Amino acid sequence: MDSQTLMMLSERYVAHTYSRYPVLLVRGRGTRVWDLEGEEYLDFVSGLAVCNLGHCHPKVVKAIQDQAEKLIHVSNFYYIEPQIQLASLLCRHSFADKVFFCNSGAEANEGAMKLARKYAKEKTGPDRYEIITMKQSFHGRTLATLTATAQEKFHKGYEPLMPGFKYVPFNNVLAVRHAIDSKTCAIMLEPIQGEGGVNCPSEGYLKTLREICDEKGLLLIFDEVQVGMGRTGKLFAYEHDGVKPDILTLAKSLAGGVPIGALLIGKEIAESFKPGDHASTFGGNPLATAAGVAALTTILEEGMLENCQKMGDYFFSQLEAIQKKFSFVKEVRGKGLILGMELNRDGYPIVHAMLRKKILINCTMGNVLRFLPALIVTQEEIDRVVKALEEVLKETS
Ligand SMILES: *Cc1c(COP(=O)(O)O)cnc(C)c1O
Repeated sequence: MDSQTLMMLSERYVAHTYSRYPVLLVRGRGTRVWDLEGEEYLDFVSGLAVCNLGHCHPKVVKAIQDQAEKLIHVSNFYYIEPQIQLASLLCRHSFADKVFFCNSGAEANEGAMKLARKYAKEKTGPDRYEIITMKQSFHGRTLATLTATAQEKFHKGYEPLMPGFKYVPFNNVLAVRHAIDSKTCAIMLEPIQGEGGVNCPSEGYLKTLREICDEKGLLLIFDEVQVGMGRTGKLFAYEHDGVKPDILTLAKSLAGGVPIGALLIGKEIAESFKPGDHASTFGGNPLATAAGVAALTTILEEGMLENCQKMGDYFFSQLEAIQKKFSFVKEVRGKGLILGMELNRDGYPIVHAMLRKKILINCTMGNVLRFLPALIVTQEEIDRVVKALEEVLKETS
């Protein structure tokens, strides 16, 4: 079947929850993807920060193949070898002492919020359940995580929302202090906001939140679903500020492209989860965790963090150079290889124009171009994107 026919069938049979670009991708390798007609694209979306190692990294593919031949799924009634390996690897390379596995970012955040409530009820008082989250955050699409997501556009039509949330502006310590009361049990935020427009924490912000949490007996939850696993040039974004959370959530790129989610948890807090308290049928299954072991060890062993830092700095400086040339480019933001370029106009025409040049980029919040290349991206590839972007911006200005 040709791609026109397939796209027509998609419109007919697949629920219309996404507005799609008219491209049907069938193959990927590294930073490149190909459509059904064999046309090649340079991918600076990476499945929205899922394919941090590039598409179909040979070590991840091999791990999936080997594991698929051995054992794809067993219940968590039994011990699971790659699950144990991935949990110990994650603990060895983070603040955490325990890991709970699930299947997505939303599910990880649900778990984090459940754990925060349970811990608070047990340790600090029966009436503490409220979680403070940040405006322009994004935590997922389940009822609880979309309530945690402090953006009205995601709430519309789904009311009544879950009780137990309060919203404050990002980067505003005073607002957090004012929002805390006797019901508060946790503060949850992305150390860098992804969907909200690539918003970085101001100097000392995360550290101050940590101090407030310690002072008030609150848990600090970092949602690193998008920025974890090397995306910012460190394995975890919290490492940049040296601020350790109590719970950290991961998903997207944790298993190199295979669906997975995880809660990384400090020891004392993990004790609030007892047998029967929380579960997920597919959570930590052999296939996903085997892919996760391969992904994590490859990121660490193949110098991807170093490349991410180096290429991220280079890309940032090139985007800043573009900013100087166009008055409608308001700001360049980000860290490592999550970079955003805020425009004072609609970004989608630019995404479409880039697509016509066979380059995939993304736009969030309507006017922030977001760049999420694989951590293995080269300077030549960045140069190609920067050159194309400059041409496109010139055409549209
Ligand atoms: C993508 C994302 C989520 C949701 O992950 P899903 O796997 O789509 O449920 C949650 N938090 C952040 C920061 C994300 O970027």
